[in-house]
Formats: sequence, C-alpha cells, structure tokens
Amino acid sequence: MYTDLQLYIDGAWHNGGGRKGEDVLNPATGKALAALPHASAADLDAALAAAQKGLAVWRNTSAYDRAKIMRKAADLIRERADTMSRILVQEQGKVYPEARAEVVTSADIIEWFAEEGRRAYGRIVPGRQKGVRQLVVQEPVGVVAAFTPWNFPALTPARKIGAALAAGCSIIIKASEETPGTCVEMVRCFADAGLPAGVLNLVFGVPANVSEHLMASDIVKKISFTGSIPVGKHLAGLAAKGMKRATMELGGHSPVVVFGDADPEKTADTIAAFKYRNAGQVCISPTRFYVQEPVYKKFLARFTEYANNVKIGDGLEKGNTMGPLANPRRLDAMEALVNDSKACGATIVTGGKRHGNRGFFFEPTVVTEIPDDSKLMTQEPFGPIAPIVTFKDFDEVVERANSLPYGLAAYAFTGNSATANAIGDALQSGMVGVNSVAISTPETPFGGVKESGYGHEGGIEGLEAYTNRKFISQA
Ligand code: NAD
Repeated sequence: MYTDLQLYIDGAWHNGGGRKGEDVLNPATGKALAALPHASAADLDAALAAAQKGLAVWRNTSAYDRAKIMRKAADLIRERADTMSRILVQEQGKVYPEARAEVVTSADIIEWFAEEGRRAYGRIVPGRQKGVRQLVVQEPVGVVAAFTPWNFPALTPARKIGAALAAGCSIIIKASEETPGTCVEMVRCFADAGLPAGVLNLVFGVPANVSEHLMASDIVKKISFTGSIPVGKHLAGLAAKGMKRATMELGGHSPVVVFGDADPEKTADTIAAFKYRNAGQVCISPTRFYVQEPVYKKFLARFTEYANNVKIGDGLEKGNTMGPLANPRRLDAMEALVNDSKACGATIVTGGKRHGNRGFFFEPTVVTEIPDDSKLMTQEPFGPIAPIVTFKDFDEVVERANSLPYGLAAYAFTGNSATANAIGDALQSGMVGVNSVAISTPETPFGGVKESGYGHEGGIEGLEAYTNRKFISQA
C-alpha cells in the first residue's frame, strides 16, 4: 500500500548496495512504513554528472517538445492521483481530500509551467545605429539543486521541478526524508512520460550533508529551498560563496485582520478552515488573529465552534477533517507553545493538548488574552494553534501586523472597499488575501519579503527564476 523507496539517478532507480538509510514513519501510528536509502557521496557525484549530461540534452530540446513530455507527466500524475494521495497521507498525515487536492494541483502546476516555458520570450531592443540588432534572450540557468520539506510532499517538488524543466534546466532534487514516497512517485511519472536520463534526479540523505556536497560543486548553478528560516539563511550563505542563484521560500507568521465591518461568522468559518488545513503545518497558514472589538466575541465563538467540530483521526479514514502532526518535533513544539502561553497569562479557550497516545495528534487549539511578545505571537507555530486578540483601529493593527521580521502571507477581512484597498497596501507581505484566502495558484507569484525569503515560485516570476537573461548586440 505504500511504495518502494529508491534514489533516481541518471534514469535508473537505486537501492541497497550497502547504502545507509532511515525508516519513514506513519505519523498517524508512529510505525515504520518503509526503509529509505541515503545517497552515498558517490551517488551524489553520479547525480551531479548525470544532471550535467541531462542539461546538455534538455536545453537543446525545444520548449515545444519539453512541454509535450511535461504534459504527459502531469496526465500520469492525474491518472495515479489516488495511489499518490494514499502514499502522501500515510507518510505526511493530512486527510485524503487535502492530499488529493495537493496531488491534482501539482499536476496543474507542472502543466502550467510546461505551457509557460513555450512563452519564455526574449525581446528586441532598437539599436542606436542602423544595422545593429540588440537581442535579449532567456537561457536556462543550468543545473539546479532543490530541497523540499515534509509539509507539501507533492506541491513543493512540483513547483521546483515544473519551473526548472520548463526553463530547460536539469535538476537534482532532495525531497524530504520524512515524506519521500510522494516525490518518488512523481519522479516515476516523469520517467514514464519519457524524460531523458539525467534531466531529473532524486536523492535522499542527511540534509546538511547532501546540500553541502551538491552546493560545493561548480556544476550546480542555482538552488531552490523551501523550509525554515535558519536553514534558509545557512543555505543562502553557501549559495553566496559559490555565487549561485537562489530562491528561498521560508517560514512566516501570517497576521489575519478582521475589521468590525466584516461578517464575523462567515469570516470565522473561512479562516478557521484554512487555519486547520494540514493541521496548521503550512507556511502561509493564518497565524495571529487581530479582531476589531465590535465583532470579537462573535468571531471567537464561531471560530471555537469550528475548532471543536474538527474530526481528528487517520487521514485515510473517511470523515476525518484533520490528521496528525507530521512528526514528533511538532508535538513537542505545540506543547511548549501552550505552556509558554499559559505562563504569559493567556486563556486556552479550547484544545491545548495531545490527542490520544498513538501517533502525533494535537487538538485544534484556540488561545486568547495573550501578549504580543509571547512565543506564540512571535514564533511560527506550524501547528493547529490559533491566538485570537483584539484591536481598536487601523493604524494600531497595521503596526502590530507588520511588527515581526517575517512577511510571507497576510489576510484581512472587511466589508468596506476603501479599507480593503488600504489594508492591501499597508501589510508588509509577499502575498495578501483581502476577503480571500486564495493566495497560492500555479499562475500567480508565490514568495516572501523580509526574513521569509526572496524569489518567487509561481507565475511568470517562478519561471524567470530559472532563466538567465543574455544580451546580444549584433552589428
Ligand atoms: P528544520 O529546520 O531542520 O528543517 C526544515 C526543512 O529543511 C526540512 O525539510 C529539512 O529536511 C530541511 N533541511 C534541514 N537542514 C537542511 C540543510 N542543511 N540542507 C538542506 N535541507 C535542510 O526543522 P523541521 O523540524 O523540519 O521544521 C521546523 C520548522 O521549519 C517548522 O516549524 C516551520 O517553521 C519550518 N518549515 C517551513 C516550511 C515551509 O513550507 N516554509 C516547511 C517545513 C518546515
């Protein structure tokens, strides 16, 4: 029911051969699903050589032909969506409908990039003298090393693989060791779609060893990382050493501003559902809730009712609406945040503890009366805890919402169009949802400001991130 975990290097699957490895756990049970092989130093060197060879083939394949293979891979992902979603649930924990939506969206992302790659136009700039042709052309940046985390095992690899391949790059991806099976199956779809050997390579290992090995190589010209801010800063430093291009999609601490003229109950339903998606383990998860005093009570009551109705359990069982946390580290982090909140004098309105004693489940939690400088209000919880506090006026809430060093996502709800315009402009964030939570689509730019990172992963900006601009002046 799970999958055979292997490395994919130069068009061949690899396992065994005395390689070290680790067990992959099902977070709903805490039990091992399968053994994952780690790439040896020789495997990583083989992946680098393969990617270099793959680049020569792929960059010389027309965007038209690249798109055909990518679209075929996207179709295979859709055909295999049920199997892939079941693998995803078992290794990551989210409920099946969320996993399925993620897998299908991944196919959409790959297809969108396939099409966009065909529109990676250059331009002609009029010369100053007659007969001079000035061309600006886009070229693939080269071999890419990509590192993806455990919270979206299909979507994050799809964004990096899709954009890199559309641009004509080859790629070595190190998917998360905690959720490897989904990416194994995605890579299988590309292999079955006829992608030439070496263009896409998949490795696993001790994350720091793999990234240092790959990034020390001159073969790698660009890195793309999704994960925590400390690791992002470390990798950005390594990238700078080798003057490699980098895209950093890091953590956040998304403020949600609910104005007094918003419908408190409708807003609570929308944002609570978004909060508990993937048990809150989402980089754009709504995190700090500032609610204007006139609607605070109604909002809090409805949000709490939503939290109390969340059905916790194994993501493969029908009817459950929230699965376990993905790993035991998150359970420890939730317990520490709840304890710190209590020590700060906060009120735990609902939840606040582990659910059951099997697997890594934690109750949907609502916290109020918590100071702005508490850990929960300042450190990314990456879990199902929602602190909800009040505010008085626009300027005050903008200052508080912008006070942290992060800037990935922000949300605001209001019934007034002038306030909607003003808050969209005022929030310091890479993405802002105003009366909307639809801030992540294949065709729109996704990325942060401040310590949440730099670069984009979707939209035309996401493709641009994998191309170099070359200026040719021809007399
Ligand atoms: P972590 O910081 O050790 O790891 C985060 C991710 O980075 C993991 O996927 C890990 O495999 C990878 N990683 C770690 N060191 C690396 C290295 N040297 N080179 C390459 N990859 C490396 O810790 P964690 O417990 O997995 O997560 C902690 C926090 O990270 C979370 O609470 C959350 O704030 C953040 N996070 C963010 C995202 C996101 O989507 N932006 C995803 C996962 C985790």
